[in-house]
Amino acid sequence: MRELSDVDVVGVVGAGTMGNGIAQVAATAGYEVVMRDIEDEYVERGLDSVDDSLGRLASKGALDEEPAAIRDRIAGTTDLNDLADADVVVEAAAEEMDVKRDVFADLDEVTDGDVALATNTSTLSITTIASATDRAGDVIGLHFMNPVPIMDGVEVVVGERTADAVTEFAHAFAADLGKETWESDDKPGFVTNRILMPWINEGVRAFDEGVADKADIDRGMKLGTNVPMGPLELADHIGLDVVLDASETLHDELGDRYKPAYLVKRKVEAGDLGKKTGRGFYEYGDE
Ligand code: NAD
Repeated sequence: MRELSDVDVVGVVGAGTMGNGIAQVAATAGYEVVMRDIEDEYVERGLDSVDDSLGRLASKGALDEEPAAIRDRIAGTTDLNDLADADVVVEAAAEEMDVKRDVFADLDEVTDGDVALATNTSTLSITTIASATDRAGDVIGLHFMNPVPIMDGVEVVVGERTADAVTEFAHAFAADLGKETWESDDKPGFVTNRILMPWINEGVRAFDEGVADKADIDRGMKLGTNVPMGPLELADHIGLDVVLDASETLHDELGDRYKPAYLVKRKVEAGDLGKKTGRGFYEYGDE
């Protein structure tokens, strides 16, 4: 397993919303980056997004270097073989299992055998993606949040066969990119999307069923629950296609998630109502 101190070159597969953001934060952290997409125009669009984003950050004084110096560390390509020198790869291609498995089978061939291969999948099984390779121990989920340069967190998703050293490496690599991490088992949607996607879909249904207009649903959830974006705004921000792909995976894997959770009923029957009774899912002291 390659150590973090051995990492000079970061490979990124996909130059879309997430891929170009990951390339940007890796280059900002000082790594050389090779970013691959399938068409020149997608590569160019990704590089343009990086330029725009770095320009915005520079104007706010948020960069320690000139944007051009950071941008010079990112090379765009349509040739996956250009990732041959990568010391770690993060895949952020389309959220389709066939696409991801093809990419990982190719990465297995193209990269050295001691290179960690990470996927930014929102919901797909790390274990199933890893099984397209002959080195499942090297495959892990590194689930960056959108927009990557702004969001502080990365979810580390541990597949069935992921090696402990690769999990440790993933936390250290994300930390080196300035991100805080938490860990999830390889269960559908992991921690974040398992909880977020039903929330977004319920917001969409509330709008569709005339509960309130769009702005009031978003405003209600922001003011009422102290989140920075309401469900409809957030769906637009993520990309409705990404929301749909993620929701379909969760629906296939988990079925009807909208019944009250059994554990909630059981706790109410027990009188464990939360803070007001001193015990709910957590225990609370007298204060
Ligand atoms: P996107 O549509 O903006 O970009 C995907 C890019 O991948 C496109 O440019 C496409 O041309 C490219 N691509 C497709 N097949 C490829 C291949 N074989 N090789 C190289 N590039 C290929 O999508 P996105 O929003 O950047 O999402 C990418 C991944 O990140 C998905 O798995 C998604 O679920 C995940 N993700 C998205 C978000 C979000 O908010 N958008 C957040 C977290 C994770």
